[in-house]
Amino acid sequence: MSSPVWHPFTQHGLNEPIPYVVRAEGAMLHLADGSTLIDGISSWWVTTHGHCEPRIAAAIARQAGQLDQLIFAAYTHEPAEAVARGLIDLAPRFDGQPTLAHVFYSDSGSTAVEVALKMALGYWHNLSLDGLAQARSRILVLEHSYHGDTIGAMSIGERGVYNAAWTPLLFDVGTIPFPAPGAEQSCLDALEAACAQKPAAFIVEPLILGAGGMLLYPAHILREMAAICRKHGVLFIADEVMTAWGRTGTLFACEQAGVVPDIMAVAKGITGGAIPLAATLATAPIFDAHVSTDRARLFYHSSSYTANAIACAAAAANLAIWRGEDVLGRIATLADGIATRLSKLAAHPAFANPRQLGTVAAIDLLAADAGYLSDLAPRLRAFLLERGLLLRPLGNTIYLMPPYCLDADQLDSVFAALHAAGDMFG
Ligand code: PLP
Repeated sequence: MSSPVWHPFTQHGLNEPIPYVVRAEGAMLHLADGSTLIDGISSWWVTTHGHCEPRIAAAIARQAGQLDQLIFAAYTHEPAEAVARGLIDLAPRFDGQPTLAHVFYSDSGSTAVEVALKMALGYWHNLSLDGLAQARSRILVLEHSYHGDTIGAMSIGERGVYNAAWTPLLFDVGTIPFPAPGAEQSCLDALEAACAQKPAAFIVEPLILGAGGMLLYPAHILREMAAICRKHGVLFIADEVMTAWGRTGTLFACEQAGVVPDIMAVAKGITGGAIPLAATLATAPIFDAHVSTDRARLFYHSSSYTANAIACAAAAANLAIWRGEDVLGRIATLADGIATRLSKLAAHPAFANPRQLGTVAAIDLLAADAGYLSDLAPRLRAFLLERGLLLRPLGNTIYLMPPYCLDADQLDSVFAALHAAGDMFG
């Protein structure tokens, strides 16, 4: 029987198998036909502690029976207050002082980014109303970035086949070259020149560009980028949607560069991946620019489900896990396990360019038909699926982003499947 469901990032014309998943636990997905899969990418980078983490599941069940949903315009509830306090406490700070002091909720990485952009432009707009600054609207972005699929988020992402149809809706941005090895200085020079033109903000994925190809750049470059923005009074926005919640080995990637952004977007693992929630954190000056007795200056953004109480309860349970357990120790152990196996895989002649940061690992398959639109990625996906592994290569780049509960045997299975892929496709 054909399904009426229209799937995201799925070419239905290729008739690829669409696995029917009935249950999940830890790193494993259980399919309707009785087989299992290792979830090698935490179901799109979200289920950080593994699927159906019992404490998060229990918090969701408790909250669903107490207070499910509440209009969040001028109403509040304890889960939202507790998570906001927790986020501010954990977020990067200057000299030990909390600097990101305000939390605005939304429900996906894309909307957290949209909110960040709206805060940045709102800040300059409101300052201009008081004659304190000129209004600014230009956004600077890094080449190869990905920030989501809503119109604003697409506008600040790399242009390509995935947003070509909507070009007329996308706004113009200033693109800074990616700081590839050897090109770091030209990236910084371009940023300095662009910042001198008084843009509103620079938005960046800290330390690793995810969907753009798992491209790493060093912490000192991130630090210099932030310093250039600060020198020119340009708002520095960190999109930590992929990198937060321990992915890169620290709770937030910005910590590795000692950088405190003016605005920071988080989502994905904020609830341990159980239920959608996102947050955009901002400094006091950005919040204050929206505070007045003038109703024209409030922050005009909401959605019906802003700060949904069940999602906030899940996030509170996630924060409790972070506070109460050595999650970073678990991440370090998993990262070591990945590193040992990745270096062996890199010796396989079919692979090149291994790279890793925390529990994000990537390697390129040397294949003739390697382009993003070639059928290599779907063929690889199907091959790995047959071997019990859920991965979603980006063109010829195979990457892992597993849940932190993945054990050594599961890791061995993952890498056995990758060696087999090298034999088959290399
Ligand atoms: N920003 C970054 C860096 C991301 O990696 C993603 C998603 O992968 C997004 C934003 C968009 O998040 P979402 O898919 O939750 O809208």
